[in-house]
Amino acid sequence: MEIRQTVEIRVRGTVQGVGFRPTVWRLACDEGLVGEVLNDGHGVLIRTTGDSGAISQFLTRLHTEAPPLSRIENVETNFLKLRDFEDFRIAESVTGENCTRVTPDAAICDACRAEILDPLERRYRYPFANCTHCGPRFSIVNEVPYDRANTTMVAFPMCASCKSEYLEPADRRFHAQPIACPTCGPSIWLELTSASTITAEQAMATPLESAIELLKNGEVLAIRGLGGFHLACDATNQQAVRRLRERKHRYGKPFAVMARDLEMISRYCSLTSTQAKLLQSPEAPIVLLTADGSEKFPEGIAPGLNSVGFMLPYTPLHLLITRDSDRPLVMTSGNISDEPQVTSLDTARVGLRGIADAMLMHDREIANRIDDSVVRIVADKPCVIRRARGYAPSAVSLPSGFEDAPDLLAFGGELKSTFCVVKNGAAILSQHQGDLEDVSTFDDYQKNLQLYAKIYDHHPQMLVADLHPEYLSTKLAKQRASDEDLPLLEVQHHHAHTTSCMLENGIELNASPVLGIAIDGLGFGGDGTIWGGEFLLADYRSYRRMGAFKPVNMIGGVQAIREPWRNTYAHLVNGIGWSSFVERFSDLELHRYLITKPLATIDRMLEKKLNVPLASSCGRLFDAVAAAVGLCADEAYFEGQGAMELEALAERCSQSYAEAYNFLITDHSVDGLLHLDSSTMWESLLEDLRAQVSVPLMAARFHYGLANAIRGMVARIRETETLNTVALTGGCFQNKLLLEEVVRLLKSDGLTCLMHAKVPTNDGGLALGQAAIAAARHIERSKPSELRATA
Ligand SMILES: [Zn+2]
Ligand SMILES: [Zn+2]
Repeated sequence: MEIRQTVEIRVRGTVQGVGFRPTVWRLACDEGLVGEVLNDGHGVLIRTTGDSGAISQFLTRLHTEAPPLSRIENVETNFLKLRDFEDFRIAESVTGENCTRVTPDAAICDACRAEILDPLERRYRYPFANCTHCGPRFSIVNEVPYDRANTTMVAFPMCASCKSEYLEPADRRFHAQPIACPTCGPSIWLELTSASTITAEQAMATPLESAIELLKNGEVLAIRGLGGFHLACDATNQQAVRRLRERKHRYGKPFAVMARDLEMISRYCSLTSTQAKLLQSPEAPIVLLTADGSEKFPEGIAPGLNSVGFMLPYTPLHLLITRDSDRPLVMTSGNISDEPQVTSLDTARVGLRGIADAMLMHDREIANRIDDSVVRIVADKPCVIRRARGYAPSAVSLPSGFEDAPDLLAFGGELKSTFCVVKNGAAILSQHQGDLEDVSTFDDYQKNLQLYAKIYDHHPQMLVADLHPEYLSTKLAKQRASDEDLPLLEVQHHHAHTTSCMLENGIELNASPVLGIAIDGLGFGGDGTIWGGEFLLADYRSYRRMGAFKPVNMIGGVQAIREPWRNTYAHLVNGIGWSSFVERFSDLELHRYLITKPLATIDRMLEKKLNVPLASSCGRLFDAVAAAVGLCADEAYFEGQGAMELEALAERCSQSYAEAYNFLITDHSVDGLLHLDSSTMWESLLEDLRAQVSVPLMAARFHYGLANAIRGMVARIRETETLNTVALTGGCFQNKLLLEEVVRLLKSDGLTCLMHAKVPTNDGGLALGQAAIAAARHIERSKPSELRATA
């Protein structure tokens, strides 16, 4: 029998600014319920009266029919005294303590797409159409609450038609803050900056069509997009691609490509359903795909690699541009070499002049620069490599045990930098900021710290930074700690990588320790030396270093990153010894190559220990091997270039079975650690070079050998430690081949493997791990002393 009742329903999660209340209203009316729905500081609150069956049906549908951009984290239902309402209505928001979230930007939805392609609609071919299910969010927010007045859309008063859509609960645009139309919203125009195939009159009369025409003619176009400027050109035109590289001074790094639809992408790359779904998701990231299709790009798109980063158009503007282009377009960030992507009109006019032949501009200001995200599929699961548009600033929920985490701020690392705000039990990782060594990136990073503080009304009780004394983020944290008299915790780099991986996998605060396998370029070690290939027995509070890659000199410090041959030399000297190399392998091209380098000077540096720090770095080992087989030996344009090319070649290896190189695992008597030693691997590699074994086969043998060696290290550690779980983390695990092979081996040994997915495995995920360590130590300290762990 049906019973009439009144319930109060509390919904938490990403439920504001995403069309949640109108959905509630529609479902409630559908089910014949009366009551009200409102936003408050904790999310959405519903009070409703109706038959018990209708209420339970309503609750089920709330989950299954929730709007696409919402994310329900939990729903709490309480019975109230029976109460009558006249109808169901959307009530005024209640403001209070701000715990609400800012939603990431979302790709154009199907309804808006259909609308801008329909000549009968008033938004036909309008580049700024959006609704509650799609469009700009974080990129236009200046302040919270997320109302039009607090976004850059404040410059565009709504016309009467937009206003009525905005106020109508049944409309798709009910309370869509960036609502706009050709009458009242932003508009585009085209500025020519050099002699063009387009005339000024054409550019003025038909900006969009002229921009498309100019791309077809091989010219370079700057486009003001959602989170910043792009530079675009015809991706199939070799001259255009080369011209863009030369003008942008971007060599080596691959270009992202945008294509109008999946069909066009599938001509270049085979697509799995997971990849297709990811490309079409509201996050619409750049997805790294294997370039194995019938059509090929010119070499300049992704030099030395087998993969191409593809994305689908995610704004109406991009949709209109690509729809009328019968070929894919390069869509790379609009910047000069390593500077951040340009966002403002004036900076573009100055900074991109000389790169772009024309600029497609618009007048909706970009409040927050946000790059395109990059995702790779590993083991059929999306792994975010660069976390920005579509993903940031969505919150990562803290696992059980972290309920009392204090409000804190983690400053992240130095490269691929992000920072992390912890507030009200959630961690908000910032969008990708870039490399702080670049002055304008560092300026931007500081501006963003202020912006997040404002948006989240965040007053940290403590600060966290990396141990590295030279990181600009660490220096800034120290300054701030002393200015504001706040406690500062400095945490070890690879411990933070490990806890970042644990946290995103929901490992509870008091879980037993896991083995963190953190492999990357380099990070400041707990003993003051450089680490980068670490086996750490870790929980959230502390770690014990069990093993490491055998330390090898980095000749010239960071210069070794730019000139990979330095690592080959160091590995040969440290491994088999230079004289033994000369004795046995002087017939090799590698020998002839290395003796052209200033070896005498280097030997003196080694002898006097001048600027040749020891580093247990996995990244430098990759550099050394890549350079030895002839990849980027003289110069790497970016860190890890050699490793990426080596991986690409290993994937191309046609042999069904590659015998893995053998590594040694040794006990080091001085530091008491297990060392993963590559000297035997070098012996075999040099023999292979002499036997003129194909480079792809050598690359494959190296990858499989390294995976075996990692497995061997874990097995040795398990001889003395009880272990069920490993956390695979660090920039070197961006290497899909290595990661998948390590996972396969460790799983067959009965271990659970934690991997990154939502948070980058590279230094972009560091801030989250720093936050976890600081929160864990704070919680531990706040416990009454008799309850503290004795460990
Ligand atoms: Zn839409
Ligand atoms: Zn309008």
